[in-house]
Amino acid sequence: MNIKSYRDIYIFIEHHEDKLHDASLELLGEAVRLKENRTNLGYSVIAVILGAPGEEALKELGYRGADQIINIHHESLHSYSTEVYTTLLDELIRTDKPDIFLVPATVLGRDLAPRLAARCDTGLTADATKLEFDPEDEHSSLLYVTRPAFGGNLFGTIINETKRPQMTTIRPGVMDALPIDEHRLFTIEKREVQPETIRDSVRILEVLPKDHMAIDIAKADIIISGGRGVGNNFHVLRECADMIGAEVAGSRAAVDEGRIDKEFQVGQTGKTVKPKVYIACGISGAVQHMAGMEKSDYIIAINKDPDAPIFGSSNIGLVGDVLEILPLLTQEIRSYRERPF
Ligand SMILES: Cc1cc2nc3c(=O)[nH]c(=O)nc-3n(C[C@H](O)[C@H](O)[C@H](O)COP(=O)(O)OP(=O)(O)OC[C@H]3O[C@@H](n4cnc5c(N)ncnc54)[C@H](O)[C@@H]3O)c2cc1C
Repeated sequence: MNIKSYRDIYIFIEHHEDKLHDASLELLGEAVRLKENRTNLGYSVIAVILGAPGEEALKELGYRGADQIINIHHESLHSYSTEVYTTLLDELIRTDKPDIFLVPATVLGRDLAPRLAARCDTGLTADATKLEFDPEDEHSSLLYVTRPAFGGNLFGTIINETKRPQMTTIRPGVMDALPIDEHRLFTIEKREVQPETIRDSVRILEVLPKDHMAIDIAKADIIISGGRGVGNNFHVLRECADMIGAEVAGSRAAVDEGRIDKEFQVGQTGKTVKPKVYIACGISGAVQHMAGMEKSDYIIAINKDPDAPIFGSSNIGLVGDVLEILPLLTQEIRSYRERPF
């Protein structure tokens, strides 16, 4: 493999009915940052999107940082198929020879990337949280990919010196998307797919949408999160959340004990959140939990143990019983709201 013939940064774009997935837009932003940090490579940022998205969605990719958008185009590609997507992307990688290929670590991305890496005979660093070019050599395109290891107790940096592309999946919510800039210049290339390539041994009979009222805690401005210390009293958190327009989330211990659904779990194996305010109630502050919320703007912790690690990372720490403190806080807010002007 002549790795010098590989160039550019490719990003796999996930989308659902023309709505671009935030995690892919975050990768676009990160790719632009990488490109600008090593302009001497002359790399472009190339967004790859399968299916038949509308023009607006394609343009948004350009406005958000892509120099080129490649649309592998066919109506039937709107539903994800592991086999078909792998075949088409493998083909693209063989013809285009990208040096770097980034995939969001969403459910779809986690399914696609390992199979694609195996098909292309390259390595995959999964679930990365940080990317940078070789800090020792300003002409190198070798990617240093950092990811949590050993249950989040250590961070490992992985390099792929011998195979291309350098493929990695990146956790949603860790990188920053660029704002829309309609003055950016970009090209859109549609590559039509021959129907025989799309033949699939799996037939999708029905796609059931998730409850449209379901809340995505990753987008919440205020989160009240409960841990084992809350026990079966999550209603106390919900009452306060209703009062201040917050969403309720939980630690893995709370999820394991069945107090709250897994989709509201914050942390390494849950969601990464970045709210303006994160109120941690009865949560000890294990590294795996902190990994999912430490980028919150303002952290308030309530814990009866003054030595709980969570206090080391919080802006305000309240030592005491959450079941006494939180109802008082709710009551105070209610009184404030109801006061006569
Ligand atoms: C590979 C791996 C992945 C993991 N992923 C995640 C993850 O994504 N998210 C996650 O959260 N964890 C994760 N964990 C688990 C993590 O290590 C901790 O076990 C978990 O975060 C602990 O949850 P907790 O803080 O609610 O419970 P505990 O650690 O048991 O803490 C409970 C806290 O509540 C306090 N408390 C008790 N009663 C009260 C009260 N009445 N008032 C106030 N405070 C009270 C206690 O002082 C204590 O600090 C993972 C672990 C591994 C190994």
